[in-house]
Amino acid sequence: MRQKIVAGNWKMHGHLSANEALVEGVLAGVSVVSAGVVVCVPFPYLAQCARLLVGTPVALGAQTVSEHEKGAYTGEVSAGMLADFGCRYVIVGHSERRTLYAESDAVVAAKFVAAQAAGLTPILCVAEREAGQTAAVVLRQLDAVVARAGVGALAQAVVAYEPVWAIGTGRTATAMQAQEVHLAIRARIAAGSPEIAAGVRILYGGSVKAQNAAELFGQADIDGGLIGGAALVAEEFLAICRAAS
Ligand code: PEP
Repeated sequence: MRQKIVAGNWKMHGHLSANEALVEGVLAGVSVVSAGVVVCVPFPYLAQCARLLVGTPVALGAQTVSEHEKGAYTGEVSAGMLADFGCRYVIVGHSERRTLYAESDAVVAAKFVAAQAAGLTPILCVAEREAGQTAAVVLRQLDAVVARAGVGALAQAVVAYEPVWAIGTGRTATAMQAQEVHLAIRARIAAGSPEIAAGVRILYGGSVKAQNAAELFGQADIDGGLIGGAALVAEEFLAICRAAS
């Protein structure tokens, strides 16, 4: 039985006082949640959130990472720096990064490797643009990481399937549509290693809300969610976490 994970992606939202209230709100209700809970916050708030989360069951994550270890990469943040701030997770290959910042499959694979080298667990996002394209694009993105890191690397990673048309739009894949893609992802991993495929957590992301979470998370191959907008409201996020528990 795979433990479910719910990861909040705050995207570029937050300020000091709002973050404190949000994290405290989540912590107030997290004791009844058996799923793993992660919050992925903007870089400037890592120190604040690390302080708020220390000794709690909620893990800290970041939203992207440099593929480089150090050097002349102005503005970039390395995986070692994230680890220094208490991060345990980092999102790599979010569709917004792939689209707005032209991150290729190869760059995403390099970020995945860099994250693991620093001891972080990458949350590898794979996404398709239009309903119906699904498997081909998602599997190509997955294959790029497996080709670079090896299928064994997925034992220390989380995969997140996010239909681009569902992110922040209020449109969600039906539980059956999502399950079909999750199954295809797991089958692809199983072709390399059935053991790793059986253990890897595959999250669904795209307009998950308290009201649709239970049905999505009830599918055999959906092991939790990557949550954007709903992660900014403590009660809503907690309700999603409870649905995964
Ligand atoms: C996301 O940011 O990865 C996401 C899934 O956003 P939302 O839940 O708002 O669709």
